[in-house]
Order: sequence, then C-alpha cells, then structure tokens
Amino acid sequence: MNATTAQPPAAPDDLVEVAPDILRLRQPLDEGIDHVNVYLVRDGAGWLLFDTGVDSADARACWERLLTGPLSGGLSRIVVSHHHPDHLGLARWLHERTGAVVYLRPEERDSADQTALGTSQAMDACRAYFGLHGMEDGDAITITGDLLPRFMACDTQFRSRTLEHGEVLQVGRYRFDVLVQGGHSVAQFCLHEPTAGLLLTGDQLLERITPNLSLLPWGDRHPLRHYLASLEQIAALDLRCIMPAHHGVYAGGVARAHGLIRHHQRALERFRTRLQPGMKAMDVAIAVYGRRRNVLDRFLALTESLAHLQYLEEQSDIRQDADARWSPRHHSPTAATTPNT
Ligand SMILES: [Zn+2]
Repeated sequence: MNATTAQPPAAPDDLVEVAPDILRLRQPLDEGIDHVNVYLVRDGAGWLLFDTGVDSADARACWERLLTGPLSGGLSRIVVSHHHPDHLGLARWLHERTGAVVYLRPEERDSADQTALGTSQAMDACRAYFGLHGMEDGDAITITGDLLPRFMACDTQFRSRTLEHGEVLQVGRYRFDVLVQGGHSVAQFCLHEPTAGLLLTGDQLLERITPNLSLLPWGDRHPLRHYLASLEQIAALDLRCIMPAHHGVYAGGVARAHGLIRHHQRALERFRTRLQPGMKAMDVAIAVYGRRRNVLDRFLALTESLAHLQYLEEQSDIRQDADARWSPRHHSPTAATTPNT
C-alpha cells in the first residue's frame, strides 16, 4: 500500500459513519484483497467492534491513535466473525489493550489452532492430505511449513465467550440477531438487525468476490452444503444494508445471496462436465480453474475443488476411490469390468 493506490492508508480519518452509530474502519492488507473493513457499533459509552483486522505494527499504531482520539470511549465488546487473520488477528492485543470481552465460537478457535500446525505430526498429516489429493510435494511443503503456520494462523491465547445462533445482542440503539453460518468457515458469526435491515457479514456475503470454500483436514466438513444452506437462510432476511468485510457497504443483499447460489450451481456443472475418470482433485482443479501461477492460488483452487467434488459425491453424481481418484458415478473402471462369460 502507498499513497498512490486506491485505498488510503489506515489512519483515524479512515473512520466513516455508514449508519447511525455504526462506523466502518478500513485497514490495508498486504496480500490478496488490499483492505479489510471492520465495524464499530456505539455501545453505551464505548463501542462494540465487529472483527479486528490483521495484527501488524501499523494496525496497532492505528488503534492507539483511535483509542486516544475518536474512540476514546474504548471497546466494550469484540465479536470475531471467524478465524481468518484479517478478522481474528488483532483480537488478543485489543482484548489486552482495552479489556473488551471477546466473542469467538469454539469451532473457530479450534480452526485457528489447527491452522498453526503446531506439531510435526500435524504438519506431516496435512502434507500427506495435500499429497493424496495430487498436490506436488514442493507446494505441500511450502503450505504446511510456511503459508498456514506463518500467514494464516492467529494468536488465540486469550479468554473468550461464545454466542449462540438465535441469541439477541443489544448494542446501543440496535438489537442484533446472532447468526452462526457455515461454509466459508465452520461457524461464522453474522449479525442481523431486522428493524433497520442491517447485516454485518464478515466474509459470508461479499458483493464483488465469492468467499472461498475449502475442504481442509479441519473446519467445516461439508462447506458447500452448509454455504448454500446459509445463503438460503440469509436470502430470507429483511436486508437493506449489507456491511461486508471487503469492498463497500451495499444494498442488494438478497439478490447477491441468490447470485452466489447460482454461481455455485454453475461451478458444480463445470466440475461435472470436466471430470474425467480417475482424476485427482488437483487435476480437476486445473481442468476447472486452469493452471495457477502461485502456490497460494493453487492451494485455494485445490481446496475449493475438494469442496465441490465432495458436494457432488453427496449428490451421488460422482464417486471417490480409496486412492482419492474421482470418477463420474456411471463410469466403471476397466479393471473392474466383469469378464465375458
Ligand atoms: Zn475469511
């Protein structure tokens, strides 16, 4: 990030009021999408923070300026939508700096801890998982030795509480219904305010990009099934103002939820038509998404392919053999055909 890019650097004046008593703070990211949005809802004398942004020296300095300036009322509560570093990353530091209560689902804490691959056995098992599904060993070593533990894991050494789906959270003038949603992660919090038609979405309902769905050795065991169910549930809500973690606040939440359902239905059709008998998931990923140039993109293509292949397997359209090779359901391997009698 620098001054010539579209997003300004994080600073106290990055705070924008996006609804009465709700502020959006935009912070820069180094990788992938160049920013993340976190939200502040006035909560008595202080603020409830929805998501924390990444942990970095710049982010901590920004928060010091905010907490001694426009947010001097402090943070009363922090809701962490899910375990990815641009949402959970700064939770421990903010908790210790402000004393705010942190709400984090235990499943999300567990996913964060698993992502750290804290033992050699965990690292070996994860490397074997990617190898089984056709990833080259060099990529699997980079992902398990570097990418996951260094860039995607977060510090969870702090006390937190949880919230249940359907619980009501009164925050100042707003009365939020807590939603716990699967798919992008195993149990992501979204907060819906039915009177105002507001939805704080985390990564669950983004306008300009499709949230990644990954079948990993941990986390959501049925990501696509749960994500489609979540979109159906969200599409039934009164939605007038969507506050996502990336890009701008927008109005068309119901249409976007239906659009994402159609996106995945089209993707499933591509997986059906491009699957050749005996392909590994990585072969399918290349057939559907093309050859990706960097290891992060290859990792995302593989894990997203696994999520779609698993869904098709559950629909009985395709099957997976003991060697993790996929085939259309109607295909019979030559070796298994009955000899002529
Ligand atoms: Zn995420």
